[in-house]
Amino acid sequence: MARISEKMKNEIRQLYGQYNKRQLATMFNVNIKTVRRVLNGKPEPKKKEQDYYDGVPDITHWTGRIGKCPECGCMVYLPCLACKIRQIQCHNKGVI
Ligand SMILES: [Zn+2]
Repeated sequence: MARISEKMKNEIRQLYGQYNKRQLATMFNVNIKTVRRVLNGKPEPKKKEQDYYDGVPDITHWTGRIGKCPECGCMVYLPCLACKIRQIQCHNKGVI
């Protein structure tokens, strides 16, 4: 089971409703059980982070650097989460 970050859990909770669990699982590249667990607020099994980060676009890594987002022009912690989510949503519209 993939381990996911707090950031991703928050995103999943925020996007749930707009998307169903299966779509969220696809978007975040996690098992649907993981999505269910996040939404139920259950603790996740301990597993090393590497399992998740292998081969997955990294939307959870923050450099801690504040800068101007090249896409939306806002001063944000890079990379810009808002633009990442927009990308995911656009991508998702194309797929579904
Ligand atoms: Zn942005």
